[in-house]
Amino acid sequence: MTARENPFVNGRAGAPSSSEIKFLRRNPPSLPVEEVRPLLAEHFGLDGELEPLPSERDQNFQLACRDGRRFVVKIANQQESPEVVECYTRALQHVADQDPSLPVPRIVASADGRHFVETRFAGGQSHIVCLLTYLGGMLLDDVSDRIGPAARRSLGRTVARLDRALRSYFHSAVTQSHPWNLGTFERLHHLVDLLGGDEERGLLHAVFEDYSQRLLPRLKALRHQVIHQDAHPGNILVDADDPASITGIIDFGDLLLGTLAAEVAVACNGVASDANDPIAAACEFVAAYDAELPLEEDELDLVFDLMLVRNAMTAVIAGARLRLAPNEPAHISSPQPYIDRVALLRSLNHARFSRELRRACRFPVYCPTAPGAATDPGEEERLVEARRSLMGRNTTHFYSQPMHFERGRGPWLYATDGRRYLDFYNNVAQIGHCHPHVVRAVSRQAAALNTNTRYLYSSVLDYAERLSDRLAPHLTACLFVNSGSEANDIAWQMAKTVTGNAGGIIMEDAYHGVTDVMRLFSPGRPGKALPDFLQGLVVPDPYRGPIRDRGTDLAAAYAADADRAIAALAASGHGTAAFMIDSAFCSSGIPDVPEGYVRAVEARVRAAGGLMICDEVQSGFGRMGRWWGHEHHGVQPDIVTMGKPVGNGFPLGVVVTTDEILNEFIDRTRLFSTFGGNAVAAAAGNAVLDVIDNENLVERSRVTGSLLRRELRGLAAEFPLIGDVRGHGLVTGVELVRDRGLRSPASSETRTLLELMRERGVLVGSDGRDANVLKLRPPLVISADEVAQFIEALGQSLEALQA
Ligand code: PMP
Repeated sequence: MTARENPFVNGRAGAPSSSEIKFLRRNPPSLPVEEVRPLLAEHFGLDGELEPLPSERDQNFQLACRDGRRFVVKIANQQESPEVVECYTRALQHVADQDPSLPVPRIVASADGRHFVETRFAGGQSHIVCLLTYLGGMLLDDVSDRIGPAARRSLGRTVARLDRALRSYFHSAVTQSHPWNLGTFERLHHLVDLLGGDEERGLLHAVFEDYSQRLLPRLKALRHQVIHQDAHPGNILVDADDPASITGIIDFGDLLLGTLAAEVAVACNGVASDANDPIAAACEFVAAYDAELPLEEDELDLVFDLMLVRNAMTAVIAGARLRLAPNEPAHISSPQPYIDRVALLRSLNHARFSRELRRACRFPVYCPTAPGAATDPGEEERLVEARRSLMGRNTTHFYSQPMHFERGRGPWLYATDGRRYLDFYNNVAQIGHCHPHVVRAVSRQAAALNTNTRYLYSSVLDYAERLSDRLAPHLTACLFVNSGSEANDIAWQMAKTVTGNAGGIIMEDAYHGVTDVMRLFSPGRPGKALPDFLQGLVVPDPYRGPIRDRGTDLAAAYAADADRAIAALAASGHGTAAFMIDSAFCSSGIPDVPEGYVRAVEARVRAAGGLMICDEVQSGFGRMGRWWGHEHHGVQPDIVTMGKPVGNGFPLGVVVTTDEILNEFIDRTRLFSTFGGNAVAAAAGNAVLDVIDNENLVERSRVTGSLLRRELRGLAAEFPLIGDVRGHGLVTGVELVRDRGLRSPASSETRTLLELMRERGVLVGSDGRDANVLKLRPPLVISADEVAQFIEALGQSLEALQA
């Protein structure tokens, strides 16, 4: 039907026209049995008893033949076009081909092989007739008092299977206008005025308003396919003894191009609206549907709204028909039960309904980006309390008021307070939160296989090769674990194993992880007592370290401390097994490490028989504007460890070393990590490499990082609190001091500043021995716009701090 023919295009104006009445009425034929029987004999060669079956738009009979076979005879109304009949007969055929065990009627061809015949009856009028196989069972409607969870789940699965089968079906008639199309609900609006009392009309008008303003734009954006759109309990047949056993889905006459959300809403409405607990019932149906045919989040979020719309639609169509054609047999005898359902659904807590559906389908429960999906009042307190009791009362959280995030995208985190926050803290989501390429790779691999490295599979080998290609030629051998801590722990074990020494050298305020040994490697601040097998080096910090005079050779002066450390390890009998650095020196406050310093220490350590371990957990994967942080120091590590950004949030740790070191280590230890390098982790790792390459992130990190520091130096001209700005790529330290001359650490100011930044929607951390260095590590995907937003927030926060 074209727009001009459409009687409802002009909305609510005026009294219903005759074409409008025609559109609403379905005019099922009422032909006498005596006229139907000869026709069946003529076209199908069949004879038997005919018994009427109910239908909104056709005249249906059950045909019981003498030989026991049973069929359904469908006689279309006179207005029905052959296209519509062809559409549903072909659809039935298609569904049967795609999913042969799905209980849908089969088309019975006429004697001359046609799916339907157009025939003239005695009265002179012609109708299209088709014959279907008869499906046994009772209508779900007739056992509604016995519908329980099992029946709802079974229906969910069955409707989903039907939609999956219909996914590959199309016919031009599915776009015909149709009174029951939830996508064109608006056109029924003016009919509300034909109904009941003021209160009912008010209720229905509200549904229409909400539909036009809020739902329709979202509905239009959902994926569309051919759907049944009428899988209510009057069209579902079940075993009389077991309503969970579905024996038939019938009535394909309302097939149309619509959304899966509409399909789900209509079917769900039928089994959930009248249940004792409609929300729980809807969850049973929807979760089963989703398990068979996964729904998208936006579809799920519209289910509740569309259930409401469907009830309003039924009320309006039924009410209007009763008014416009009072003498016709009514398919639905009163709009009132549907108006009551609208009222009931509106009385339910919409947010809770959507949350429970999300929970049932294992979507994140809160969606701060979805309209109207805020948390319940009191929810934050409940979570804080639950966290205390379930995760220990001493588990720390960031900020005085803990933040509740449920979504992340790119550099943004979305909180349940309805705000989004620019994430300048997180160095795990290196390529942006929830990067879709990684998410897809992880889920595709998880759907195919996840196993361990004791078997052969290609993804982990592919990944190992790609990683080692990015390192110096001697670093070819990979060992996979699940975290940075584990990677460092194993690197340390390797160093001890292959050197035969047992002493380690670290920075005096290093952080390298949480295993028993790595906690010892993580004093976090200078001056902390270390075990005698460990020596901490003075941090080569030209800004606030003990040697600052740029006139001296700072690299050599600081590196001399390694002589002391090596001598001490020799004296204690441990010898030097390795020097381990975080190539970004993060926990040291991201100092501007003097050129040549690390190389000078490396040379001393090698002379003492030790190895060089570069911990790239913070600094790798483009963070410092080059692939690896250690490239800035010009060293040749024997072992490189990786964590955090490797999987962009998927747990993965890697140790890369030389072939000789790995072989000797495995030979001696037989070490094997169950999860290390599992197929899903390898998929995540591969996808991260893809994105860094495809989005040119190493170079972007370099360029955006320079921009950020330039802007920060601009701020420093205004705010004396900023003592120093340094870093490489997108790891930046901003040292805050009370007095630029004395360089006295502004520790409490830094703490306050973090809170002020949070109030302005930006997340940053602090580090350094006096916790007075802002530690900025945004995802490498940030743009100049986001740098500008950050600088604006920092400027305002510094101003607020001064005030
Ligand atoms: N090394 C460095 C330099 C780190 O910053 C961290 C974590 N902050 C680790 C190792 C430990 O990594 P994970 O927490 O994944 O064990």
